[in-house]
Amino acid sequence: MTCSAANVAIPRHGLRLLLRRLCGEGRELLVPNLCPACGVRLSAELGEPCAECLAGWRPHAEPRCPGCGGHLDNALKFCGECLRMEEARPWDLAVSAAPFAGGIRDQIHRFKYQGATALARPFGRRMREAWERFGGAPPDAVVPVPLHWWRELRRGYNQAELLAREIAAPWGVPVENLLRRRRWTRQQARLHFHARQKNLQGVFAPRGPEAAAGRHLLLVDDVMTTGATLAAATETLRRAGAQQISVLTIARG
Ligand SMILES: [Zn+2]
Ligand SMILES: [Zn+2]
Repeated sequence: MTCSAANVAIPRHGLRLLLRRLCGEGRELLVPNLCPACGVRLSAELGEPCAECLAGWRPHAEPRCPGCGGHLDNALKFCGECLRMEEARPWDLAVSAAPFAGGIRDQIHRFKYQGATALARPFGRRMREAWERFGGAPPDAVVPVPLHWWRELRRGYNQAELLAREIAAPWGVPVENLLRRRRWTRQQARLHFHARQKNLQGVFAPRGPEAAAGRHLLLVDDVMTTGATLAAATETLRRAGAQQISVLTIARG
């Protein structure tokens, strides 16, 4: 009599059921806790990046510039780049969690363009902590910078909205889509501030103008580079009657 592997039936379903019964809610112990940033290495804490990825997530050096949320590189009120702007920043205060450099830059790219949406939680947590330290009390509502509907449809999500939800939930404040993107704008990465500003003229419109009136709104986006997008969004909310507008980003480029 021969004994072949084909004769040995592995009761897979039964085994899975048994493990589930034995482990109950603790079964995640059997599932590797993979890093949401690299998706490869193990993380010590559920939903948090692994130690190697976290090494690239340095916060800005202090003190901080209230104009852009980056490092304040002089003894004046605003950093050199904010002071060189022809017009003052239109928002009341900007806070950012990290410089747009090193490992975080690649992780933001994966978050925006490669579907790594699990990064919304650790990014959102750091943004909220930065706001609590350098901003102050929670706002009346958190407002994500909108994508054009076609871009959102193709991507499957608006990364700013995922961040806004993570930031707002522990505060118990609402996430409100108070802005609408009226038209498609070309990718702005290679344009400087004035070209960006021109590219963005009239791009945002308020959704229900009454909703912004008299409130403190926290505008959320992934990265601030020149600040032209956030400036256009701020001006739209200001025209809609918002009393105070702050901005919060993962990174300051
Ligand atoms: Zn990792
Ligand atoms: Zn600045």
